[in-house]
Amino acid sequence: MNHHPCLRCGACCATFRVSFHWSEAQPTNPDGPPEEMVVPLRRHELAMRGTDGPRPRCIALRGSIGVDGHCGIYPQRPSVCREVEPSWEFGRHSPQCDKGRIAHGLKPLTPEDWAMLPVQLPAAGAEYHLRPTAADTDLQTLPGGAPPGPQPPDDPTHAH
Ligand code: SF4
Ligand code: SF4
Repeated sequence: MNHHPCLRCGACCATFRVSFHWSEAQPTNPDGPPEEMVVPLRRHELAMRGTDGPRPRCIALRGSIGVDGHCGIYPQRPSVCREVEPSWEFGRHSPQCDKGRIAHGLKPLTPEDWAMLPVQLPAAGAEYHLRPTAADTDLQTLPGGAPPGPQPPDDPTHAH
């Protein structure tokens, strides 16, 4: 593998409700998701259009899942999308990534999938969970420290 796995996946973009605070979106935040791509959800919250339903698929997802699926608004994607971890990119399992891939018939990533790629450091000191709701599960950020488990190597060759 010589491309980042997320560039030929997109499964998590078609598995969860992608919700976030309203202030993340345009026009309030010019660098956030376009206004026409979001819908009202709960009080103070928006969701990416297409993700609040029984068969979620984000309107911004381009390509085919598992082939060339990728985010069409990558620089403007909401915080929850920036923060979800692909399994084993940072030396640990990601329940959201595995759930998304399994839901679309893809094998969960393994440490071997990263063997040919540059090592990257975690971007944030937060823990990300599936949060059950009455209707579905959300891709959401919860406060807390990094989960226990193997840490990235001391001498990474690349960080983002
Ligand atoms: S399911 Fe995992 S590998 Fe696929 S796009 Fe999401 S984070 Fe990346
Ligand atoms: S905004 Fe982009 S990264 Fe986030 S769910 Fe939609 S397609 Fe995926």
